[in-house]
Amino acid sequence: MEAFDHIVPEIARAEMRLPDVPEGAGVPPGRYLIREYYCTESECDCRRVVVTLTPFDEKGAPVAASLNFGWERQKFYKKWSRVPDAWGPCRA
Ligand SMILES: [Zn+2]
Repeated sequence: MEAFDHIVPEIARAEMRLPDVPEGAGVPPGRYLIREYYCTESECDCRRVVVTLTPFDEKGAPVAASLNFGWERQKFYKKWSRVPDAWGPCRA
C-alpha cells in the first residue's frame, strides 16, 4: 500500500482534511490527519483503499484508527479472499 500523498502530492495537499473529532467518537478527541493508501502492486487487483486517522498535533503518534474499504461488489472480494471478514458486509 502506498500513501496517496506520495503518489500525487499536489492533489493530496489540495484535498487534505483535518477533522476535529469530538468526544465519544471511538478515538480520543482532537484534530486528526486523514491519509489514504492504495495498492500499487502491478500484479494485484485488490481494488481497495485503507484510510487512516492519525493525531495531527502529536509528532510520531501512532495511527488511531484505520478503515479498509473496497469499492467493488461483495462477490468480487468473495472470489479474492476466502476469509469472510475480508469481504462480508459491514457490521456496525
Ligand atoms: Zn492490491
